[in-house]
Amino acid sequence: MKLKLADTFNVELPADSIRLNVPRQVHEACFSFVNPVIPSNPKLIHTSDNMLKSIGLENYDKSTSTFLEIFSGSRHIANSAPYAMCYGGHQFGHWAGQLGDGRAINLGEVIHDNKRWALQLKGAGKTPYSRSADGLAVLRSSIREHLCSEAMHHLSVPTTRSLSLILSGDMVLRDIMYDGNADYEKGAIVCRVSPTFIRFGNFQIFAARKDVKNLKALTDYTIKYFFPSIEKSANDKYVQFFKIVVERTMEMVVHWQRVGFVHGVMNTDNMSILGLTIDYGPYGWLEGYDENWTPNTTDKDHRRYRFGNQPGIAVWNLAQLGSALVLLTNQPEPFQQILDEYGQSYGVQYLNMMRSKLGLQLKEENDANLISELTTLMQKVETDMTIFFRNISEFKAIELATNEHDIQLIEDAFYNLENIPASVHESWTIWLTKYRYRLKLESIADEERKRIMNLVNPKYVLRNYMAQLAIDKADEGDFDLISELHNLLLKPYDEQPQYEKWFAKRPEWARHKVGCSMLSCSS
Ligand code: AMP
Ligand code: MG
Repeated sequence: MKLKLADTFNVELPADSIRLNVPRQVHEACFSFVNPVIPSNPKLIHTSDNMLKSIGLENYDKSTSTFLEIFSGSRHIANSAPYAMCYGGHQFGHWAGQLGDGRAINLGEVIHDNKRWALQLKGAGKTPYSRSADGLAVLRSSIREHLCSEAMHHLSVPTTRSLSLILSGDMVLRDIMYDGNADYEKGAIVCRVSPTFIRFGNFQIFAARKDVKNLKALTDYTIKYFFPSIEKSANDKYVQFFKIVVERTMEMVVHWQRVGFVHGVMNTDNMSILGLTIDYGPYGWLEGYDENWTPNTTDKDHRRYRFGNQPGIAVWNLAQLGSALVLLTNQPEPFQQILDEYGQSYGVQYLNMMRSKLGLQLKEENDANLISELTTLMQKVETDMTIFFRNISEFKAIELATNEHDIQLIEDAFYNLENIPASVHESWTIWLTKYRYRLKLESIADEERKRIMNLVNPKYVLRNYMAQLAIDKADEGDFDLISELHNLLLKPYDEQPQYEKWFAKRPEWARHKVGCSMLSCSS
């Protein structure tokens, strides 16, 4: 197995001078060297072949013992020096101080096809950042991370990736709903992959400690490797850097809103500096379209991270990053100006994204109303987001009036068809009529519009209950559903008739089931 190691983070940035692997505050360092714990009986469950190729491995590599050993943490990549990163963060709006990789250990960076990839094991044991926790991860959350990060990539949503999912053979104690009912669960290790795992919180920790020297070192490093369009000598390079981070972050959030993804824990330590979706914890997918929904029971009172709040929280998080970076220039105005501009331009990006979901190519003044009337209506009665947008591409604008066929497209998305009030039906007919008139302004034919709409409205997403079914099976030792869902989600925009059963509303049994609609941070 040939991995081309090309470490930079742990070579060019300051390391923790203490080698002791015990929980503590780590100062004036970007990371601590630490080795993964050796699992007692690792077993490979699944790999992403796509990712395998991207880091320069061949298909047969995954069946070697070396692969299992390296990606379970039992063996080092030759010449590597594994490490955990130091970062802080705002959790649920409050500064939480030092957090860091409490159970993630970077194996190193590899280069393939001129692309840099950091390989990181999640659930690989304690680090100086583990605080009072065990450094491990359970099978259920590892399946969710592995499946969802790959699914998001194939949906064209910027994201960290996942190479492999491995059972550790060790049992891990967790209290899933934090209600005093702790139990042992199977432990697992995911190898996640990203150009870098640097987060907003990596910058924030230095700013909080007024450590400008290391803040500068980290920012210069990040620009050098990941923002090559910025001139090293430019006077305003930190402002340029911030601007790109803002753009990428907002772009990512527009994608989340497009596919109905709710991250669940948008703390600043869970925000990638590259604008990638990172840290798949209590995330979820909208089934019934609901801007107030969050899957995270830990956040059920304030719903800070609800679907409709994600854009605002992204801006809030960016403001925290901006405050940290200001220490490098002592001039807050340009940072504030960027935030103000993007706070406003998000609205335009959102509108254009929603236009694309409805197949609208022209920009008409009244589109914003048409769209807000739609999202309001979708929340009046439980309307499945994925099915609605996929079905609406079948709308025939050439017909003269709304007909049974059009109504049917929408009814298929209702969860409780028998109890839809007549007034809601009436409102839908009115909306469809407005939509028909709006489509008449476009010059595109129905079939072509459908084709284009189906490129942005996925047919298949990783519904919460689907991941849970795969978890339940895996717990019994049957991993076939993990492979099936992974394969399905390689082509989420394609019809794939053999998988039609997954183009369905959430079954009723899943409505209030733990793991389906209710998730906690326990993982
Ligand atoms: P999260 O909520 O997963 O983003 O985690 C927040 C912080 O807690 C990060 O510093 C994690 O590394 C740490 N953490 C979460 N779970 C564990 C665990 N089981 N063991 C050690 N650290 C953990
Ligand atoms: Mg995290």
